Amino acid sequence: MDLAEYKGVYVIAEQFEGKLRNVSFELLGQGRKLADTIGDEVGAVLIGHNVKPLAQELIAHGAHKVYVYDDPQLEQYNTTAYSKVLCDFFNEIKPNVFLVGATNIGRDLGPRVANSLKTGLTADCTGLSVDDDKKTIVWTRPALGGNIMAEIICPDNRPQMGTVRPNVFKKPEADASATGEIIDMKVDLTDADFLTKFVELIKMGGGGIKIEEADVIVSGGRGMNGSEPFEGMLKELATVLGGAVGASRAAVDAGWIDALHQVGQTGKTVGPKIYVACAISGAIQHLAGMTGSDCIIAINKDEDAPIFKVCDYGIVGDVFQVVPKLTEAIKKHKG
Ligand code: FAD
Repeated sequence: MDLAEYKGVYVIAEQFEGKLRNVSFELLGQGRKLADTIGDEVGAVLIGHNVKPLAQELIAHGAHKVYVYDDPQLEQYNTTAYSKVLCDFFNEIKPNVFLVGATNIGRDLGPRVANSLKTGLTADCTGLSVDDDKKTIVWTRPALGGNIMAEIICPDNRPQMGTVRPNVFKKPEADASATGEIIDMKVDLTDADFLTKFVELIKMGGGGIKIEEADVIVSGGRGMNGSEPFEGMLKELATVLGGAVGASRAAVDAGWIDALHQVGQTGKTVGPKIYVACAISGAIQHLAGMTGSDCIIAINKDEDAPIFKVCDYGIVGDVFQVVPKLTEAIKKHKG
């Protein structure tokens, strides 16, 4: 393989029901930094049906080029069909790097494409940089239970691929005056490319605000002692703040709240404006998912709890007394 032939850092832009996922913008921002370092371009690959109008949004967030695969057959995500489209893109355009969001779809699609193209993929990265000597991407991710950060490279094959968790990088500001190229691509799919059939979409999580997209998260840990405070006290505080309820793994493992709400290394990475940690000790695996929050407020009865080392505001006290008072005070303040 002549590595010099492969050019461009490409973000697989993920959209759902006609709306681009935030992670696509976050990856464009970081992709642009990587591309600038290696003297390359950053682009996006947009797949779906009636998605072409979204291309301009990608350009506003940093894409120099957007390759669009717009076809009725691509209306719903399909593992094998979307993989085929990306393999076709690779064979035609010869990209150097593919950045994929570590979402449900990205985690399904990325490895499938990497396997088809006989290249490597680093999953669930929390950092991206460039190796000074070889100008290859250095993919950083936690390893050995989060105790070390591993740096992984893909020196001999292309594309260099990785999935990156939502909320690891900040979304760049949109520049409405930015210009770029939008390129219509030919979709070449047959029935044989669809190994599964879309039947029905069943949305989980009750349709509330998702923690990965929430501006405010009120999270509860083992000290909440049951499911009732999640449904009552924590939900009420989250609601007055216009946010969502999160949880530590201890609370999820105890069956008090669904795993969709888990924050941390094996849960979601979140980046809200405010993160309220209630009766959560602050284990490293929990911190791995929430230290990107702008402001962390911790409520814990143990003044030595590790969460107090990472918080901006700490309240030493019993959550069952502090949270209702906080909710009351915010309600009063809002009138
Ligand atoms: P604890 O550590 O038991 O802390 C409970 C806290 O509540 C204590 O600090 C206590 O002082 C306080 N408290 C109790 N009662 C009250 C009260 N009335 N008022 C105020 N404070 C009170 N964990 C995650 O969260 N997310 C992950 O994704 C995750 N992934 C993991 C992956 C691996 C491979 C491993 C090994 C572990 C993982 N964990 C994860 C588990 C993690 O190590 C901790 O066990 C977990 O985060 C602890 O949850 P906790 O803080 O709720 O419970």
